[in-house]
Amino acid sequence: MYTMRPAGFEYHRPESLDEAVSLLAQDGDARPIAGGHSLLPMMKLRLATPGTLVDLGRIPGLDRIERDGDGVRIGALTTHDTVATSRDVNSTCPVLSEAAGGIGDQQVRNRGTIGGSVAHADPGADYPTVLTALGATITVTGPNGEREIAAGDFFTGIFETALEPGEIVTSVFVPATKGAAYVKHGHPASGYAVVGVAAVVEDGKGRLAIGGVTGTPVDAEVDSIESASETVASALSGAIGDTYASGEYRTHLATVLASRALTTAFERA
Ligand code: FAD
Repeated sequence: MYTMRPAGFEYHRPESLDEAVSLLAQDGDARPIAGGHSLLPMMKLRLATPGTLVDLGRIPGLDRIERDGDGVRIGALTTHDTVATSRDVNSTCPVLSEAAGGIGDQQVRNRGTIGGSVAHADPGADYPTVLTALGATITVTGPNGEREIAAGDFFTGIFETALEPGEIVTSVFVPATKGAAYVKHGHPASGYAVVGVAAVVEDGKGRLAIGGVTGTPVDAEVDSIESASETVASALSGAIGDTYASGEYRTHLATVLASRALTTAFERA
């Protein structure tokens, strides 16, 4: 039956991280909710039917942004708009602010969070690609304590991550990076990346992450702008095709966007 109403669920709004972890541990069918911009539509379509929602919105400190050594730590509840406009993010890693400013529309940016985006792991999302290229680290807390996961290991499949049951993303650490660029071909209706390519240049060498083409961001090392297209084409296999873009088109787009992203990253480095 087609419905726009979610199935019934219990709702909790814990005031601490410990309480949230314990609520999630008590019910294997419970899910955290942050901005709700991905989870609520899935619940309305009954693609997700969690028995319990654990709202992270009242947990102190989860929306904090702070300089941390040679980088910036962004709390999981930080909205895309805050990442886009934060002076600390912009001065440390401007490409992340740029990418955040290109997510969806203003309403999505006002509610959606960086923790929700990485946990959701949509292949068309922007953060997974940019964070993979930047070599970011994702901090999570669960019943067995805290652990850190490299972004490159965090995204394991379409809507799949390295999160264990009951674990909550608490923050994302992004190393200071100036020589970087992110270029995407956004879907005209939603802004999701049909293809998005992030490039980082360090010590004269380029590193790319390509999102939207396969289930997870694909990374590749490149020596020069001239060789980028060929390197990207050979790094991609199993490209996703849908009614908007075939796998072949996505792969071609990735080679073009890779050259553009790399050119800008070299200019900024
Ligand atoms: P929620 O919807 O609250 O949660 C999503 C999933 O993550 C759920 O499974 C939830 O249990 C889990 N979760 C949430 N927070 C945590 C946490 N801290 N720890 C563990 N699990 C957690 N995204 C883009 O990248 N680019 C776009 O262009 C784009 N366009 C969009 C356009 C529209 C119209 C909409 C509705 C969304 C769009 N999005 C886009 C997605 C948007 O960025 C979402 O906000 C994001 O994917 C999910 O963040 P959220 O805070 O809303 O998470």
